[in-house]
Amino acid sequence: MPSTEVIPHNSFDTILVLDNGSQYTHLITRRLREINVYSEMLPCTQKLADLTWKPKGVILSGGPYSVYEKDAPHIDPAFFDLGVPILGICYGLQEIAHRLHADNVVAGTAREYGHADLQATRFGGHVDKLFEGLEDAMTVWMSHGDKLCNLPEGFHTIGTTKNSEFAAIAHKSEPVYGIQFHPEVTHTPQGGQLLKNFAVGICGASQNWTMSEFIGQEIKRIRDLVGPVGQVLGAVSGGVDSTVAAKLMTEAIGDRFHAVLVDNGCMRLNECELVKKVLQDQLGINLTVVDASEEFLAGLKGESDPEKKRKFIGGKFIDVFEAEAKKIEAQSNGKVEFFLQGTLYPDVIESISFKGPSQTIKTHHNVGGIAERLMAGHGLKLIEPLRELFKDEVRELGRQMNISAELVGRHPFPGPGLAIRVLGEVTKEKVEMARKADNIFISMIREAGLYDDIGQAYAALDPSRAVGVMGDKRVYANIILLRAISTRDFMTATPYPFSYEFLTKVSTRIVNEVDGVCRVCYDFTSKPPGTIEME
Ligand code: GLN
Repeated sequence: MPSTEVIPHNSFDTILVLDNGSQYTHLITRRLREINVYSEMLPCTQKLADLTWKPKGVILSGGPYSVYEKDAPHIDPAFFDLGVPILGICYGLQEIAHRLHADNVVAGTAREYGHADLQATRFGGHVDKLFEGLEDAMTVWMSHGDKLCNLPEGFHTIGTTKNSEFAAIAHKSEPVYGIQFHPEVTHTPQGGQLLKNFAVGICGASQNWTMSEFIGQEIKRIRDLVGPVGQVLGAVSGGVDSTVAAKLMTEAIGDRFHAVLVDNGCMRLNECELVKKVLQDQLGINLTVVDASEEFLAGLKGESDPEKKRKFIGGKFIDVFEAEAKKIEAQSNGKVEFFLQGTLYPDVIESISFKGPSQTIKTHHNVGGIAERLMAGHGLKLIEPLRELFKDEVRELGRQMNISAELVGRHPFPGPGLAIRVLGEVTKEKVEMARKADNIFISMIREAGLYDDIGQAYAALDPSRAVGVMGDKRVYANIILLRAISTRDFMTATPYPFSYEFLTKVSTRIVNEVDGVCRVCYDFTSKPPGTIEME
């Protein structure tokens, strides 16, 4: 069995982050990666005995529970005997104190949310190693209601705030640290340096996590996994993730990787030609474009329920991929054993993060269950080369493999395509209207130099009609909805603040150039409550 275990934590020094359910846990991992230290997150329920690799250090995250509550989660005590440095953040600090004595943590009288001024304690003229190189007085960000009322045995205070006598503590002889504030959020300006002090200075982790290091290792892993004759099938969409994944597969196994672009009849303007030009001609990826547009559009006829539309599209994609797998096998002498999936680390985090005693932890998911059905029906195994990466790392990887800045910076686009941007029933004519309007909107955004500032932008079609007057004639035509958002992580978003003039110009062009449209509206909804896509 080829090793599937050659994953980053086996070849890079790794800081393990145990998640106690905080909203910020993933930020700890990100901050460490930003300083080129590899870090992985696991739920706080992780048993040390089940871990197949040894971390260089362990960070215990914050969490919404109170350590003294009956159902509060607790870290496997074996981690404290592992002999590697430990840093507890907020709930993590309270966990460290509570396990040594149940009375060490109590509900505080004053909750602390927001800024606090921390003063590092000096011992014989020196601050603790955790604060080395930082200014003694620093702004930190707090979010807690419980507090340490006693210093746990064997520890001393290394930093205080006005409200927290034990805002930062360290064991006197072992590398165990606890801090009440959150170094992972940007509101703690010196937080990145503090995490570096822990990871590099205290744990001794090397700062070798770079995409150029990763490429070489990942290519080797893919080769080992697929073997000398195996064939891999993968869906590409023209988006960043699938393009980067496809390029990586091509670097690893050449034409034994088969990229498939399915034209579902709901693509953006000239999208198939563009993907062909970039993936096939510029990046040398073995690409097949399957035109299944008539089948998709026929199947979508009469269906206006968003979930049913998505389900139908997902199912149809699988049919196309299964047929492609058979074709490849008939043409080449290798069996198609793997299906490429562009899963990113945030999807993994979402599925493993600790959701609390009352909720079960979700199992790994993938978009629309396509991979699951292919795996079950065709015996395909999953290959996920981007599984350990954050989006900005995927972009960096793309740049390293000479994928153009334009493609690497493209906005996300949904798998079902314009089908979910034509509200209600999808017809060829409606897709055509959404497509033209979208093209006008996006090209005007690009011309105005706003593209990279926007997280995602598109035009959708509202099939209800409004009355208008065009050329002195009454018209009764469709409405185009414009949506553009500002976001850092796509979890929350706000409408992009275009100027009134810009929106007016876009509106005028769309009404003039897109037949069947007489009005244009801009969507001012944030996420939440709105989602980014309409359906
Ligand atoms: N729930 C704990 C408290 O309120 C820990 C909070 C946290 O980790 N942010 O003190």
